[in-house]
Amino acid sequence: MRKESGDSVVSCSAWTGGKEDIGKEMRAPVNKIIPFSAVDGYGNRTAVFFQGCNQNCLYCHNPETIQECIHCGACVTTCPAGALSLSDAGRVVYDISKCCNCDTCLKTCTNNASPRIRHMTSKELLEEIRAYLPFIDGVTASGGECSLRSDFLTEFFERIKKEKKTAYMDTNGQIPLWDKKELLAVLDKTMIDLKAGTEEDHRKLTGMGLENPVENIRRMAAIGKLYEIRTVVVPDVVDNARTVALGASLIADVPDVRYKLIKFRHYGVRSEYAGIKEPSDAVMEELRELAAAKGVKNIVVT
Ligand code: SF4
Ligand code: SF4
Ligand code: SF4
Repeated sequence: MRKESGDSVVSCSAWTGGKEDIGKEMRAPVNKIIPFSAVDGYGNRTAVFFQGCNQNCLYCHNPETIQECIHCGACVTTCPAGALSLSDAGRVVYDISKCCNCDTCLKTCTNNASPRIRHMTSKELLEEIRAYLPFIDGVTASGGECSLRSDFLTEFFERIKKEKKTAYMDTNGQIPLWDKKELLAVLDKTMIDLKAGTEEDHRKLTGMGLENPVENIRRMAAIGKLYEIRTVVVPDVVDNARTVALGASLIADVPDVRYKLIKFRHYGVRSEYAGIKEPSDAVMEELRELAAAKGVKNIVVT
């Protein structure tokens, strides 16, 4: 993980599942900021990762983003740099200036959380990334699941649009976006996961249903706000051909929309899922051909 700059000492708070009002200003828990990314939407982008997710995917590569810290204190004593402490109120306090990014705290936590969270206002977040603005096309909100912070994102993206940059969301599609008119007014594009092609597979893989991701894909495509859909290919866990067939059927009529097929890799997954098989290049090529045969023009395999 990269080290963020900015405020040096911050404390964690319990996940509210939505917007957070600490004091009077709306805040959201920021896990990580990647200044420059070429894989999070069009062009060169700053990616902001928010803490908290409403799914629990078997293969999650960032499981420390799923839950918010419950202040059990277990990671405090394992930090080799003295960057973590417990306040008198029993809350974990993170001193970013001391953190050496060793990830020991993430390995210690059994709650799928991180103590390295900053609860930021949209103004603070913009000021944090301001130095990158001359060099980027836009900002992408990711996670965890960034749509859990839709009120915050609306405010943040309003600021981003005033800076004449584009605003993208990378989402698992579980929160219906089509009703969020204020957010849609300042949102340029979405990148939406399609993790499985049947209800049964989707529930088995993510713990949640397939209906909302599919509906979000349909509706965002219909209003020109879909940049790409993304499928992580995981052999022996779900029927990948069913997933790709469904994905292709949803975007075949919108040629600008990209289908990104991502090879499952073991990096970062929880140890109990380390035995999940990685797909071969031949499997990825078969799926690429399947999507192409169903009419998708823009396919990327990574
Ligand atoms: S949606 Fe993404 S962040 Fe959430 S559990 Fe699944 S892979 Fe992890
Ligand atoms: S171990 Fe996890 S839940 Fe406990 S204080 Fe650390 S980050 Fe929070
Ligand atoms: S990554 Fe975690 S354990 Fe390592 S120095 Fe930073 S806060 Fe401490």
